[in-house]
Amino acid sequence: MSVFSHLEFDHHEQVAFCHDKKTGLKAIIAVHNTYRGPALGGCRMWPYADEDEALNDALRLSRGMTYKSALANLPLGGGKAVIIGNPRQDKTPELLRALGEFIQKLAGRYVTAEDSGTSVADMKIIGECTEYVSGVAEGTESGGDPSPATAYGTFVGLKAAVKHRLGKDDLSGIKVAIQGVGNVGYHLAGHLKSAGAELFVCDIHAEHVERVVNEYGATAVAPEEIYGLEVDVFAPCAMGAILNDTTLPQLSASVIAGAANNQLATPEHGERLHEMEILYTPDYVINAGGIIDIHYQRSNGSHEDSMRHVESIGETLSEIFTRSSEQNRATHVIADELAEERFQ
Ligand code: NAD
Repeated sequence: MSVFSHLEFDHHEQVAFCHDKKTGLKAIIAVHNTYRGPALGGCRMWPYADEDEALNDALRLSRGMTYKSALANLPLGGGKAVIIGNPRQDKTPELLRALGEFIQKLAGRYVTAEDSGTSVADMKIIGECTEYVSGVAEGTESGGDPSPATAYGTFVGLKAAVKHRLGKDDLSGIKVAIQGVGNVGYHLAGHLKSAGAELFVCDIHAEHVERVVNEYGATAVAPEEIYGLEVDVFAPCAMGAILNDTTLPQLSASVIAGAANNQLATPEHGERLHEMEILYTPDYVINAGGIIDIHYQRSNGSHEDSMRHVESIGETLSEIFTRSSEQNRATHVIADELAEERFQ
């Protein structure tokens, strides 16, 4: 395993390998950049095939957090923790506390939060051993769950994209296809319905689909049909890499605006969308509502201030869209450049 010459290393400030003999903890904490503030990023627990895979994930995800926080105008840098192990079998309170002690030793350079394989309850256990944990705020509007804020930011960003591409100030009559109506997709559907949009939804869980059909009058479609629907907006809110060689030729939407992470299978697919004149809304910009809300919870800010900040996602996206049109360059490239201006 190489670290400094790793393909994803990209000038990480610090990478900590954490091992605790008693609990069996094996974790990697990657701190990409702290120029704007402490490196905040979730703690993922996953049964990685090997240590290389875990390191790859930690480096890639922590770098992504630097870009996300910079474009969300937060006083935060980017970091990520990964625990090697199966969250269903290997997660114990002792193991989580051992990680908390390692986080504490980093003295605030890294602040953790929930991610795949960890929960708000796990963060509370980690928080017994470190003050550097977020997303556990009691008595807040969301109870620590970032999904409603992520959905609101996605809604604001989707409106900015529709305005830029379709010249429409409101969403009445706009057809939106949502892929995945879990935590974020469900709340997004509610905002869109209130704004007068026509909804088409799919999910692999029938009860998730039923909820939005019953509550918001959405039309259910099969998962494999979602890409080719004759709609204005495609909103991916399930998994990553769904903008790829197979799906691009099927798309008829002129706007892509959804919360899923890492939507582009490769940067090349972002270039192709630009050539196809499909407006791609960079995922890490539009889905920053959750991290913004976590920041306000952590700093005891008000819910109103947090939502106002989330609304600024629309302005950031408008700037990206305008630069993209003026320079005739893909939106994901413009977003990265704008972020780098803010943290380098
Ligand atoms: P979730 O697990 O609650 O919802 C995802 C939904 O997608 C589920 O209902 C699942 O059944 C469905 N799904 C899975 N595979 C599917 C498929 N092939 N076709 C259709 N539906 C499928 O997750 P979430 O919290 O709503 O997050 C959604 C996406 O947004 C994820 O990519 C996540 O990384 C990203 N994201 C979430 C947040 C947040 O605050 N929750 C923040 C930033 C980014």
